[in-house]
Formats: sequence, C-alpha cells, structure tokens
Amino acid sequence: MNVNQSVPPVPSFGQPQPVYPGYHQSSYGGQSGSTAPTIPYGAYNGPVPGYQQTLPQGMSRAPPSSGAPPASTAQAPCGQAAYGQFGQGDVQNGPSSTVQMQRLPGSQPFGSPLAPVGNQPAVLQPYGPPPTSAQVTAQLSGMQISGAVAPAPPSSGLGYGPPTSLASASGSFPNSGLYGSYPQGQAPPLSQAQGHPGIQTSQRSAPSQASGFTPPASGGPRLPSMTGPLLPGQSFGGPSVSQPNHVSSPPPQALPPGTQMTGPLGPLPPMHSLQQPGYQPQQNGSFGPARGPQPNYGSPYPAAPTFGSQSGPQPLPPKRLDPDAIPSPIQVIEDDRNNRGTEPFVTGVRGQVPPLVTTNFLVKDQGNASPRYIRCTSYNIPCTSDMAKQAQVPLAAVIKPLASLPPEEASPYVVDHGESGPLRCNRCKAYMCPFMQFIEGGRRFQCCFCSCINDVPPQYFQHLDHTGKRVDAYDRPELSLGSYEFLATVDYCKNNKFPSPPAFIFMIDVSYNAIRTGLVRLLCEELKSLLDFLPREGGAEESAIRVGFVTYNKVLHFYNVKSSLAQPQMMVVSDVADMFVPLLDGFLVNVNESRAVITSLLDQIPEMFADTRETETVFVPVIQAGMEALKAAECAGKLFLFHTSLPIAEAPGKLKNRDDRKLINTDKEKTLFQPQTGAYQTLAKECVAQGCCVDLFLFPNQYVDVATLSVVPQLTGGSVYKYACFQVENDQERFLSDLRRDVQKVVGFDAVMRVRTSTGIRAVDFFGAFYMSNTTDVELAGLDGDKTVTVEFKHDDRLNEESGALLQCALLYTSCAGQRRLRIHNLALNCCTQLADLYRNCETDTLINYMAKFAYRGVLNSPVKAVRDTLITQCAQILACYRKNCASPSSAGQLILPECMKLLPVYLNCVLKSDVLQPGAEITTDDRAYVRQLVTSMDVAETNVFFYPRLLPLTKSPIESTTEPPAVRASEERLSNGDMYLLENGLNLFLWVGASVQQGVVQSLFSVSSFSQITSGLSVLPVLDNPLSKKVRGLIDSLRAQRSRYMKLIVVKQEDKLEMLFKHFLVEDKSLSGGASYVDFLCHMHKEIRQLLS
Ligand SMILES: [Zn+2]
Repeated sequence: MNVNQSVPPVPSFGQPQPVYPGYHQSSYGGQSGSTAPTIPYGAYNGPVPGYQQTLPQGMSRAPPSSGAPPASTAQAPCGQAAYGQFGQGDVQNGPSSTVQMQRLPGSQPFGSPLAPVGNQPAVLQPYGPPPTSAQVTAQLSGMQISGAVAPAPPSSGLGYGPPTSLASASGSFPNSGLYGSYPQGQAPPLSQAQGHPGIQTSQRSAPSQASGFTPPASGGPRLPSMTGPLLPGQSFGGPSVSQPNHVSSPPPQALPPGTQMTGPLGPLPPMHSLQQPGYQPQQNGSFGPARGPQPNYGSPYPAAPTFGSQSGPQPLPPKRLDPDAIPSPIQVIEDDRNNRGTEPFVTGVRGQVPPLVTTNFLVKDQGNASPRYIRCTSYNIPCTSDMAKQAQVPLAAVIKPLASLPPEEASPYVVDHGESGPLRCNRCKAYMCPFMQFIEGGRRFQCCFCSCINDVPPQYFQHLDHTGKRVDAYDRPELSLGSYEFLATVDYCKNNKFPSPPAFIFMIDVSYNAIRTGLVRLLCEELKSLLDFLPREGGAEESAIRVGFVTYNKVLHFYNVKSSLAQPQMMVVSDVADMFVPLLDGFLVNVNESRAVITSLLDQIPEMFADTRETETVFVPVIQAGMEALKAAECAGKLFLFHTSLPIAEAPGKLKNRDDRKLINTDKEKTLFQPQTGAYQTLAKECVAQGCCVDLFLFPNQYVDVATLSVVPQLTGGSVYKYACFQVENDQERFLSDLRRDVQKVVGFDAVMRVRTSTGIRAVDFFGAFYMSNTTDVELAGLDGDKTVTVEFKHDDRLNEESGALLQCALLYTSCAGQRRLRIHNLALNCCTQLADLYRNCETDTLINYMAKFAYRGVLNSPVKAVRDTLITQCAQILACYRKNCASPSSAGQLILPECMKLLPVYLNCVLKSDVLQPGAEITTDDRAYVRQLVTSMDVAETNVFFYPRLLPLTKSPIESTTEPPAVRASEERLSNGDMYLLENGLNLFLWVGASVQQGVVQSLFSVSSFSQITSGLSVLPVLDNPLSKKVRGLIDSLRAQRSRYMKLIVVKQEDKLEMLFKHFLVEDKSLSGGASYVDFLCHMHKEIRQLLS
C-alpha cells in the first residue's frame, strides 16, 4: 500500500471553513466557526470566539513597583538565604504552631462551624440548609466527622480499567528498555561495572573532570551496546555488556581546561590537506530542496583541523580553537528562517522534515498532522531494527495533541458520525484516516495499520473514482486531513454516561505565611474578576464549568456558596486523616448564579484569617478533599492549589525536611528527585481515575520538597508553578499572569491517549505528565494545550520503503463544556535502507527534547553521572555511525557532522550541564526537582530555548526596526560592554547592561544619568516616552507573549554580583559548576567518536 498521497493542493474545505453536513468546526483554539448542525447534546452548539485569546479585564492593572531586588526567580539569591536559615522540625515556620488564635475557625466549637464571615466575627450564623445525612450528625457531635462518608474509589468504566500500578508512570531508567540495543534490565551496580573483567578502562579523569566530563569508565549503569554490527573500536561484544567503555583506550590524556588545545588532540593537520574541510555541507548537507543550501556553512572552517588527528599525544603549543569555526546555533536558526519561513509548510507529502521550531511558518494540512501537533526525531526511519541499532538515533515523536494554533490556521474539524460513532478498524481499532485503502468498489477498506480488511457500513458507502479514491474524499476531514476530531458516542464515556461539565476547585492555603506575604488577599481579589473568564465552548454565553472553594491550614474549611444564601457558610473538617466533603449542595456552583455569595466569600477570606498564627499545613488531605468533591459531583475537573510550606502537620502525606546537598554527586543523589512517601502516588492514581487534574502554585520561603509535592500534578497532567520568597510588590505580576493563563487555558479532561503504528514499529516508551496503568494507554486526568507527550518507537518487524510507516495518535477527552470527543492526528513517515537517508531527515531539536526527557527521568533511578555518560556515549555512537557509513572518506583527524545534526554536540552539552544534571552551588534541591518536572512536559520549542537561551543585542539594530534583533551566541565573548542584551530561556529574562553603555542610552532606558545609578536587580523598566524605551519594553512584552509562563525581568549590570546569575545562562562557556565549554565539549566528542572508529 502506498501512503504517499496525491492530495490536490487545496482541499475543498480550505481556510474559510464552510459548513459541511455531518461535521462542524470546533471552537478550540480560538476559531470562530460555523454553527454546528448535529450535536447530540445541547449546551455548546455554536462555536464562540475562543476564550483563549481573551485577556481578563484586569490584565494590565497594577504593575508591580520597581526597584526591589529580584526575589522570585529560581536562582534568586533570596532563595539561598532563606534555605540557609532553614532549621529543624517545627520551629521552621515562624511563630510556634501551638499558639492558637481564638478566631481561628478550626478551633471553634462546632456551634459555629460556619464562620462568621466578615466583620462580625462574633455573630454566629445559622447553619444554613441542613447538610445531608450522617455527616451533620457526626459534625455536631464535636467536629469528629471522620468516617462519616468515605466512598470507595470509583471504578472507571471506560474500558481502560482502573489503574493498577505506578511503575510505568514513574519510569525506570535501567529497565525501561529505551534504546533499541540496550539489554533490558541489565544494569549492574556501579561497583560491578567498575570491576568488569576484560574491559580496559580509560583514565581521562583529571583533565576531563576539569572541563566537566566524566570518565566513561567509572560505571554508567547501562550503556548502549550494539547488537547489530559493531562499530570498530568497540571492545565488547554481546548485548549484555553494560560497561560504558567501548574504548581500547588511549593512555591518560590531558584535555586542558578552557579552549586551549594541547597534546591529546594531536597536531594540526595542515589546512590544505583537507579535501572537505571541517563540516562538510555535503552529502551531510543536502537536506532536500526545501531546506536548501546553508550559505554560510559551506565554507571551510579554518579551525576545523584543530579537532585533532590520530598522530598521538605529542604536545603542541596551545592552539586556540576559533569559536566562529564551529557550528553556530544562531546561524542554523537564521538560515532556516530565511529558507523556510516564507512558504507555508504543506503536509501532503510523506516524510517531509518541517521547518525548525524557531522559524515562523504557516501550516496547511493536506493529510498529515501539523508539526505543531507532532514532531519526530527523524522523518525517515530505518527499515530494520539492525539499522536502527547501528545508528543509535532514537526514534521518537513529540506529540502535543491539543496544541493551540495561530489564528491563520484552522483548528480541527469535528466530525459527527451519529450513533454509529467513528469508523474504526475491527482488528486494531485504528480510526478512519486518509491512509485507509478502499477496495472492492468502495464496499470494503483495508486498514493501513494492520492490513485487516473491513466492511464499509452502508451509511458510509461511497463510490471510488478511477484512481481508487472515494469521490467524497475531500468532503470528509477523516479522509483527507492529518488532524480532525470525532464526536464520541456514549460507548466512549465512563459508566456509559455522557459526562457532566467539569468543575474547578480553588484551594487556598491560609496559614501564617500565606497571609503574611499578602498572597491570600491578592489571590482573592483576582479571583473575583478571573472567574468571568473560565473556559467556554461553542456559542455558550457563559462557561459550563462550576466552581468551588476550600481554604486550609492544618484543617480544611469548605464553603457553601449556594446562590440562595445571603452569606457564604463555612464548614470545618479537622479530621484530616479520613477526608471527605461535608457538603454537596452549594459547594460547586455556577459563577453567575452565585456571584454575590462568591464575591462576599472572597472579600471575607483575607479578613477571617488575618490574625492567624497557624503555621502548619496539610497537603494530601486537601487534594483528597477536592478529588472526593468531584467524585461526589460525578464530574472531572481541576484543582488549583495555592500552597506555601512543607506539610508537616499530622496528616496523611506528612513530610519532613530531607534536603541534603551533600548527596549531590553520590549514589544517593537520586533520592533528592524521588518522592518521600508513596502516599502521593497512591493519591495521584485515585485522582486520575476520577479525572481530577491538579495545578499547584507554590510560594515557598524554604525547602518544601517539590519532588514530593509535584507528584500529583505530574501524574494528573497538571502544572507546577513556583514563586520562591513571594512578595506581592515584586511578584504579583508574574503570579497573576501565570494564574490568568492557567485558569483560562484549554483543557481536555479525563483523557486517554493511544498511539497506534503501522506494522513494523510500535510505541514502547512515554515521557510526560501523565499516568499509565498499562503499556499502551496514556491516561491524563487533564491535558492542556501546552503539554506534550514524547513517545519512543522501536521496531518489532521489518518496515518497507514503499509503504513507509504510519503513526496515529488518538486522544479521547472531555471538553470544557463536557462534550466527549476524540482528536485524531495522523503522520506518515518514510522508511529507508540507507543510513544516509536517516541522517538527512533528522531533527536535532526533537532529538534533544527526547534525550533531555530521557535523562531527566533517568536521574530518578541512576547516579547523575551515569546518566550523563549514557548521553555522551549515545551521541558519540550516532555521530560515529554517520562518519563510518555516510561521510566520504577523509582524515580521521577531522570531525564530520551530519548537516541536520551539526548542533547535536552544542545542544547536548547544554543538557549535560543543566541544573538537573550538573548543579551549581546556587541551585537548590527544590529548583532542580522543579526544573526536572517542567522539562518533562515541554514541547520542542520550549526545550530548544530552555537549553540554549536567546541572547538579543539591543542597540545594534536600527532603533526604528520593528523586528526582533538577530540573536548572538550565548557566550561572554559575544557581549560588548558598550551594548545591552536581553537573555531569555522561557523561564528567566535578563537585561544585561554593559559598563560602557552610552550615557544617552542609560538615560533613555532607565531615566538615570549614569551606569552606576542603575539599580541592579531592577525588575521593571520605567515607562518613558522615547523610541529606545518603547522598543525595549515592546521587545520584552513580545518575548513574554511567546512563552507559556511569565518571565520576570532582572536587570544585571556588568561586573555586578548578580552577573553570576546571568552568566549561568551563557551556555557556550565553561560553567562554574564544571560544565564544559562548547569548544571543549566538541573536542571531547570528537575524541569519543575517534575511539569508536579506531
Ligand atoms: Zn487495523
């Protein structure tokens, strides 16, 4: 079967989407579509202008005051100071927790469970409508409401049964079988590896450690071994060898620090001896017509020969490697923008490599999913597993099923097949797609995934044209597009019932710290307006989402905000050991109906707890309560948790401070990333079963054990936000911006994702924020438009060049209006019998996304150093295989990189020296756990800028220019002290000011007369009416708009102490924590490759 499509250039349902019988346009992603003709349920018929793009009215208000030192970024000095003060046990959080204020609701007798909200604390209100049943009785008998109702976990009736194990979700580095050639589960303990007989170890230690490299011989737990043809130089044979050392190694060598190259890399071959100097654009190069030539790359690299030669360790005078001569990320990005940013990317042709994520381009769906939904490490995959093992290029797809699209692109059509539901293959259950082959005059179709012949149901029958294509192919999205949605029938719903609209529950820490910082007041004020912007769908005038409110410290306070009440009512649950929800009616409400009561509640919460002395908090019972509330309401939903401290109060999930920086670089370092107790995973499992997604906003002053607290958000598809040392005046803009975006964003609830593949490959491993109870179904309590799932594939049979390989990602989810839908993405890839075709069609940014996630999961189970070694070895094998099989013969002293992978070394080095894999002294344990968690769900664009930040000079380009200034490489050498630069990585944003910047520039931007008067650490630029000020502030706004999280600005002056923080992000340089410079790493990589080849 040939999946190459001959789709006409413009499908009949092009951009201005007309109405087609049988399906309608989804309003997801902000599309304003047509009226839906045939929806089986009422509430959300007509699409509505997307809520996504709508900013809340309050968006621009209240700019934070300027001038204060930075406090909330991950690496802010404030964090260190605070951690430094951290003591033991219960004295950590300010006033003693034994001091109780009389006003605290939790300490009141039950006679006043209902807190007298507001200004009349002494007046007890009547208890409101009688709560149902036994619960009240229990409460009335003195606050012991435990055991009143503790329903069993629900059974999930969807056919994707109840979760049974957490094993696959948490991942297991040694046993996960990630690499094709890895022996499964054969990781010997470190000591065993070191003592492996017959393996010669290399001792590159001293100098390489100095440059951040770790000696490969000291024992990665599991390293790639080739089951296919061995590369020359590999001293081990069988698949069970886990010794990293593939070298019959050279004697101890010196790789000097810095960019000095001496002996070990050998003498320089004379320039003229090079037939193809340096990185040949080549055969390495020609990347297909679309990618085109890379003009600046074809020229010889003058310094390339300095990568060494085989001539042995004879010392040479130090020779500086010209950084301009090594592959530049900036150049590659620039070239791709120039070559591919002008034409739309049309998806009709199988196996096309899309433009880079850093290029702006439009996509036309002509049968394959847009790269905004799926990107692959390679678009041409080896036909056999032997080839794949030889190349060691991971075969993976980074999938973002609910990605938002630019306004110019159509969001997926929704197809309604009525009661019969979507058409699927009887055997493999793949959904109807453009690659299915209709035969026998259209009466049957052959499945493109499993080859099964299926009957076409009578209502779906259509004649074929002379080419064998259905004549209605271009009227049906599922026959002509890469991405589309089906309305799901009741068979796709839990318990065979259509779902109720989801609910949002806001759960607010009201302990001493939360009150003191002003967080509670700020949050309550914001919610009053933000609740008007809950996600809507279709033509609905208001959101279908109901809301509920809980506050807590070491007890929980539930609020009845029923519209008929004059005032909200509080119910206290102090028995946190056996959590349940004390009220059903009036807890989850419609915002508009209960607006007055909600507003009253939000006014009163900050007052009620204003004088609290309670410092202790609980955590697990809070999520438990939210989950139980959703369960009782029989709906999916999301919990928004605002939490400040380590939960040390006596309750399930109680934690202790176990931060220990001494564990860094030991075998126990992995425990810093692991949860402290299993209670969190157990809870997460229950949440997933209920479709309860948890978003966690953390406001810590000290260690809160992010590794443990983030377990539930991670496994439920939620997000974690962290604002260290939160202060309203400094951090409100960042927090509110994140909160607004988070509350408004598109979410699919109670979702299950399945990736099907055509015969020959299959999905074997998954990375992201989700839970898996079996090996195929990715379960997501919630999935938003920012989250990605990275999927790795392996061969289980031979592929065939003619038919290629197919992926189909199907996401079953409940929309924000409660509609059950299936979103389908299809992608066809080429298959090759020549390795060169693989290397010509790779995407390094996607490879790095995969490798980073692989490594960041690996640190849960393996020593960090071993994880780094694994990455280095794999990268060397990828490049050595290319050199051996694809490059034209040349001196072994030359480093030759495939054109598509020429940035692999620089990007991989950035991953290796990232905070998770090689922490500097300023990085806290919580920061590392936080970043580890974030990267897990990042898409390719996010990992790209996160690992290699953008550095933009501000005064080089003409002031009137409206485009972003061209970036420069992230190295101190590129900084001119007469200029200023913005640096961003998606999380952090710096404005670096050179010491010799012109006085006029300083005046225009900062409104002070000299460099010395600029406040270091400033986070807001003054609003000044001059072109430079407008341009820089505009650029900052534009950078922020491109990222999913608000980046707080930090102004850094040259030579100032904050500059250390900034330099951490100059990733081409040697890092303070010992991370290698780009130049050093390239030399190291070259040496590894040569060892593999010799
Ligand atoms: Zn099939």
